[in-house]
Amino acid sequence: MMERNDHKGTVGFVGLGTMGREMALNLLKAGYAVRAYDVRKEAVDPLFSHGAAGAESLADAVRDADIVISMLPDTPQVEEIVYGEGGLLASPPRGRLFVDMSTISPVAVRRMHADLKAADIAFLDAPVSGGPVGAKNASLSIMVGGERDAFLRAEPVFRAMGTTITHVGEAGAGQTVKLCNQLVCAINIQAICEALALGRASGVDLGQLRNVLLGGSAASWMLERLGPAMIAGDDSAGFRIDLMLKDLRLVQEQALSLSVPLPASALVTSQYVEARAHGEGTNGNQALFRVYDRMTNQTVA
Ligand code: NAD
Repeated sequence: MMERNDHKGTVGFVGLGTMGREMALNLLKAGYAVRAYDVRKEAVDPLFSHGAAGAESLADAVRDADIVISMLPDTPQVEEIVYGEGGLLASPPRGRLFVDMSTISPVAVRRMHADLKAADIAFLDAPVSGGPVGAKNASLSIMVGGERDAFLRAEPVFRAMGTTITHVGEAGAGQTVKLCNQLVCAINIQAICEALALGRASGVDLGQLRNVLLGGSAASWMLERLGPAMIAGDDSAGFRIDLMLKDLRLVQEQALSLSVPLPASALVTSQYVEARAHGEGTNGNQALFRVYDRMTNQTVA
C-alpha cells in the first residue's frame, strides 16, 4: 500500500459512501495524506490504489489527523464520531479541528460545537451541494458555519473539494443554508414531476418537453440532471429519497421551532413520505415521479 507524503497534512476521513469516496479521492489528488474509516470496510477499498491508508477503528483515523472530516448519513452517526468510543472527545485529533460535511440538524451542531470547544477542538459545519458529480469533479458548493479562524485553517482543504466556498456565519449556519438549498431542490423536483405528469397525460413527447423547458425560464439543475432518468424510468440512486426525506424533516423541525410557515415544503415532504412508503427510499430522487404514476395511473414504460 502506497502512503502519501504528509507535507500538506493528514486528513482523517470518516464515511466513504457515495459522496465521501469522491471527496477523499480529490484530497489525495491534491496531495493530502488520507486515513479513511467507514463501518463498511469494503467502502475504503477503492481508495487504497490512490494512496489512502485504511484505519482499523475510529480512534485510528482520528488520532494523528491534522483535520478530521466526516461525510455521514445523519445526525446520530456524527454524534457517534464526537461522543462515541474512540471518538473526538475521547481521542482528540492532533490538529484539534473537526469538519462535518454531512447534512444534519443545526441544533445538534450547536450542541456539539459547544462540547468540542470546551475540549479545545474547533468544529465547522460544512455541508455541500452539487451531488456525486460535483463531488467527483471537485466542484461542490460548500457552506460553512463556525469560527472564522477555523474556517481559514480548513479553507485549503475545502478548495480541494469544491469551487464555491462560503463562510456563512456561526456554528449551525452552514446547515441552515443547506436546508434552504434542499427545500428549493425538493420543491423544484416536485414541479418537474407535475410538468411531466401533465405532459404525459396530454400525449406530449416528454424528451421534447424537457428540451423546451431547458431552453427557457423553467430551466433548472434538477431538470437537466434528473429529467432524463425520470423520463426513462431509471430510478437508480445518486441522492436517495430517504436522504432527502431526512433533510425535509430537518427543514420542518427548524421551521416549526421558529414559527415560519413553509406550505410548499410541507406538501413536498408528504410526497416523499408517500414515495418511501411505496418502497422508493433507496431509489434516487427522480423516483418522486413514481408518486405521480400512482396518482395518474400512468407509467413511463
Ligand atoms: P452514503 O450512505 O452513500 O454514505 C455514508 C457512508 O457513511 C457509508 O459508506 C456508511 O457505511 C458510512 N457510515 C455510516 N455510519 C458510520 C459510522 N458510524 N462510522 C463510519 N462510517 C459510517 O451517503 P452519501 O450519499 O454519501 O451522503 C452523505 C451525506 O451527504 C448525507 O448527510 C447526505 O444528506 C449528504 N449529501 C448527499 C448528496 C448526494 O447527492 N448523495 C449530496 C449532498 C449532500
